[in-house]
Amino acid sequence: MEASARSAQRSDVLIGGAGFAGLALAIALRQGLGPSFSVTVADPALTGAAKDERASAIVAAARRLFETIGVWQAVEAQPILDMVVTDSRLSDVVRPVFLTFEGDVGPGEPFAHMIENAALLAALVEKAKDEGVALRTAAVADFAFSNERVSVRLSDGDTLAARLLIAADGARSAIRERAGISSHGFRYGQSAIVATIAHERDHRGRAEEHFLPAGPFAILPLKHDPSVGHRSSIVWTEQTHEAARIVALPDAEFHAELERRFGLHLGEISVVGARRVHPLGLSVARTFIAHRLALVGDAAHVIHPIAGQGLNMGLKDVAALAEVIVDAARLGLDPGSLAVLERYQRWRRFDTVAMGIATDGLNRLFSNQSDLLRLVRDVGLGVVDRLPALKHLFICEAAGLVGEVPKLLRGEAL
Ligand SMILES: Cc1cc2nc3c(=O)[nH]c(=O)nc-3n(C[C@H](O)[C@H](O)[C@H](O)COP(=O)(O)OP(=O)(O)OC[C@H]3O[C@@H](n4cnc5c(N)ncnc54)[C@H](O)[C@@H]3O)c2cc1C
Repeated sequence: MEASARSAQRSDVLIGGAGFAGLALAIALRQGLGPSFSVTVADPALTGAAKDERASAIVAAARRLFETIGVWQAVEAQPILDMVVTDSRLSDVVRPVFLTFEGDVGPGEPFAHMIENAALLAALVEKAKDEGVALRTAAVADFAFSNERVSVRLSDGDTLAARLLIAADGARSAIRERAGISSHGFRYGQSAIVATIAHERDHRGRAEEHFLPAGPFAILPLKHDPSVGHRSSIVWTEQTHEAARIVALPDAEFHAELERRFGLHLGEISVVGARRVHPLGLSVARTFIAHRLALVGDAAHVIHPIAGQGLNMGLKDVAALAEVIVDAARLGLDPGSLAVLERYQRWRRFDTVAMGIATDGLNRLFSNQSDLLRLVRDVGLGVVDRLPALKHLFICEAAGLVGEVPKLLRGEAL
């Protein structure tokens, strides 16, 4: 590898993985440092149209990042105008509402929007091309570090030399493993069934989180689609074996199970497109950095989707790392050096572990049958519901606007 790297193409930064995290980082770096700073993104998935059928809740801070790098304008986003939380057994006829949120973090700024993953990814790819990011349709196959650079071999046989390699290659990050960085965590034994549901009545921008004994059942509002009508995305948590059973049911039986949970408050419902299952886990990498290497997004951490925060956390990584690299490069420092990368690690690791613990605690508190625990949590939710200042703090925290917020998440260009 060393010999071939001498004649290799060069890039200041090479990013393995063209998901949300990898592409957003590439765009932010080019915008911050201009055309003399070369950025390459390598991902075999860049060959075709994005196939992710999920939708994501994008909190206010992450929306500001997308606005600032110029991709938000290209996606149709549905604002979440309010949210209700219920806590009941599946057999309960009525689900009392324990907590309501009206969704603004400030005047006219909803705390979150729903977007469809495929549309946002397509917009990011287009923007990356416009900004002159070099896109390679190949995987990062191998790499070797030297003092001055990292030599990266792609799966198409090409070799590139970079000052910094970024692992943005998702939860099963091969780059993280190849670098010998272990990840601590576990599987929940729960999986999320994800589907798009068409319904007769307008959701009016309302998100619903129903805490059922098997786990949370979320109904998240999507933009009206003239060819389908009113739509919502569901994230339906079950024990993994039960999720596999349910998702494989014939249409009519699946519909019956869905209706027991979804209810009929939005009128008749029907499934649009495919139903998919995602196994759920919690993991945090032992370190987010090494000499000439940084981890972002799911490559660094995976959390339970109970609070819809996984991608939002990845975008905080992106905003913090972009700021650290841009600041260093402007001062003439080496962006791949440990001294520079340590600022990123200090900024992000504690916050990540705290969010991992919080989402894990929420899931354990709510995904069970105990009547005593239900009483305790419902009293807690009831108290929060009666304290507007505390609710506003929770909303701002969930929207990513509390703590040392990086510039891009405040809506400021680098
Ligand atoms: C059911 C469910 C619902 C969710 N809902 C939300 C939500 O509402 N809000 C939220 O914030 N988060 C949510 N999340 C989390 C969110 O989807 C992830 O955090 C996010 O997709 C991670 O983005 P990423 O760019 O880090 O990784 P990924 O999206 O996984 O992208 C990784 C990319 O790396 C590529 N790759 C893999 N190996 C290599 C290699 N060796 N070389 C080069 N490229 C490689 C892959 O092809 C892929 O394109 C949810 C997750 C689940 C499971």
